[in-house]
Amino acid sequence: MTSDTPLKDISRLNPIQQKALERLGLKTARDLLYHFPSRYEVPGQRKQISELAAGDDAVIFGKILSAKTSKAWRKKIPLGEAVIEDETGKIKAIWFHQPYLAKKVAVGQFAEFRGKVAARKKTGTGAVATTAPELYLTNPEVRDGLAWQAGKESLFYNNDNNQNLEEFLVPVYPETRGLSSGWFYYQQKKLLAGGALNDLVDSLPTELLKKFNLPSLKTALVWIHHPKKLTDAEAARKRFAFEEVFFIQLARLRDKKIYQSNPSFSLRTSKTEISKFLKNFPFKPTTAQTKAIEQILADFAADKPMVRLLEGDVGSGKTLVAAAATFAIVNAGYEVSYMAPTEILARQHFESFCQYFAHLNVQVGLLTGKECRKFPSKINPTESTHISRTQLLKWVANGEIPILVGTHALIQKNVKFKELALVIIDEQHRFGVLQRAKLARKNLENGSLPHLLTMTATPIPRTLALTVYGDLDLTLLDELPAGRKPIVTKIIPPNKREAAYEHVREELAAGRQAYVICPRIDEPDPEKELAIQAKSARAEAKRLQEKNFPEFEVGLMHGKLKPKDKEETMQEFANGEIDILVSTSVVEVGVNVPNATIIMIEGAERFGLAQLHQLRGRVLRSSHQAYCYIFSDTTNAKSMERLKALVETKSGFDLAEKDLALRGAGTMSGEKQWGISDLGMEALRNLKMVAAARIEAEKIIEDDPDLSLHPDFAEKLKARKQELHFE
Ligand code: ADP
Ligand code: MG
Repeated sequence: MTSDTPLKDISRLNPIQQKALERLGLKTARDLLYHFPSRYEVPGQRKQISELAAGDDAVIFGKILSAKTSKAWRKKIPLGEAVIEDETGKIKAIWFHQPYLAKKVAVGQFAEFRGKVAARKKTGTGAVATTAPELYLTNPEVRDGLAWQAGKESLFYNNDNNQNLEEFLVPVYPETRGLSSGWFYYQQKKLLAGGALNDLVDSLPTELLKKFNLPSLKTALVWIHHPKKLTDAEAARKRFAFEEVFFIQLARLRDKKIYQSNPSFSLRTSKTEISKFLKNFPFKPTTAQTKAIEQILADFAADKPMVRLLEGDVGSGKTLVAAAATFAIVNAGYEVSYMAPTEILARQHFESFCQYFAHLNVQVGLLTGKECRKFPSKINPTESTHISRTQLLKWVANGEIPILVGTHALIQKNVKFKELALVIIDEQHRFGVLQRAKLARKNLENGSLPHLLTMTATPIPRTLALTVYGDLDLTLLDELPAGRKPIVTKIIPPNKREAAYEHVREELAAGRQAYVICPRIDEPDPEKELAIQAKSARAEAKRLQEKNFPEFEVGLMHGKLKPKDKEETMQEFANGEIDILVSTSVVEVGVNVPNATIIMIEGAERFGLAQLHQLRGRVLRSSHQAYCYIFSDTTNAKSMERLKALVETKSGFDLAEKDLALRGAGTMSGEKQWGISDLGMEALRNLKMVAAARIEAEKIIEDDPDLSLHPDFAEKLKARKQELHFE
């Protein structure tokens, strides 16, 4: 057996297992070895079924003989049932109101059950099966993770040394239909014993392992799957987390080095010119904005392309910074493209830029999948006008329209620039790495790369920024424009809902507008569990219009609307024709309606803290007092704690740190959003470790930019290629 041996050659797999492995992308022994447990459990003190008595908090271990869903014998409560057997007897497990749990247990498998033992009279009539035991387990937790012990038949059938079980740490693997933790346990055991790891080469050099006191690859693999003690498991996890963070940083830093080894547009902008440009705004830039602009202008003056991330809370004024950067480029005779993730946002930026550049006689274009516009129009020089796509592309290609704002339509091949010297990407995390890279490489045929200004309002923890944005120089806009009153954020209990609405009515009557955010578009499927129900935007809009706010205009907005309808609704809201806009989180990014001062968020526990913070930012746009009302039916203490953090914390950056601390690893959707595994996310709680990995990666790239002296690292990065920014 080697690490490349296909799993199907190692174990017999039934079709369900084959499917499950396929879904997880596990093909070879190596893949499986790198499929880590998400946690470890200490088995509870077990009892045998014959020992149980009513009232016990019991832990039993046995074989699941059968499982089904049914209705309760007297009331019509839906329930799930299973019959469990050990060598001393049988007992029924009953899940009231949770029939689906019975569907989840694997009949024929062994599992641990923890729950309260209850007794009921045996009537022997009606719906009660005559075989039903008198005692039953109510709503037990099932720990399939212990199923592996079933294999130790002796342990099961002659379970007289329960004490020893306390010594075991049971690896629990991420839940997967068709593959139990027990299955994983046995497979890993087979692989470890069969020598599947013998040919694996440690990608971390021994000096690094020594320096940070990390176990070698082989030791770590054994420890992560079959730890004898928790500290071993922790050391192993730390090693893999370090490895992941180290290689991401290495990749990012190398990307940056490569990007910056290309020539770019070097230009100097005089202070007087830029301040003249800024004087045209109705407000003074904040200190943070001024600093950011200075930094960007200094980057432009250098002879390599800028790669900068402007990270600023919603409302911190990133658009102004983008405008100043654009001015410097256009003023020097080059072109700018400005990409936003949605049509609404692109349109909004386009309109802002039309205003900002009108007095300079600079033409601005808009390119989205839906429409092409140009500013100014020939007939009315204060307005923009529709033009054909061909015409727009022609004028962009010959440099007549030096500023092109748009959606990802900008990436298309036939969009050509004369000399594209600056690429601005708003809400950059909404784009794929490849999309960003494509836009940034537009000018390559002209021989030089554009400066790159990416922007985000998603505050992320410092450790995450250091890792995933390792290829970007960071500028923080950590200051809101003067005169903004902090948002009043309140959690509204059910009995205060009316009072909150009353206040909303007052605000609306005073001319303000409100958002209502719902977690879903439609009413939930009645078949689905109660637990996943949430308010729908459609029903809520109807309810608010008919019941609570008949005297106001309620509008509806969600992602399934046609872009044109979305735009129209947004426009009506912006014009004040709609007083209350009920929406799903599609309004999350960047949309700017300064007169909207209230945001009510339904089912708030369903949103991440960063997202809630961004939503709340929608009403941070004016000098009126803004309110964020949070509605939630959660009784979960952790969810409540998170919502309280939102109330108490004003800064997005602080909130991001809190979110990381509160939610922890595995719940920040690292894989999806950042390309980091759950394990890697664990590492992000450890600033020291992330900083250390960064320093090591920097040292290597400094001495060996293309990793020619470190072929093993280069090889490893190749395997991660899909995550790179600029390739
Ligand atoms: P974001 O950083 O969320 O993209 P925007 O650039 O949309 O923020 O700016 C939010 C609002 O603040 C806009 O209405 C903008 O005109 C205004 N604004 C920007 N900078 C300042 C400033 N220095 N003083 C006052 N208002 C400002
Ligand atoms: Mg913005």
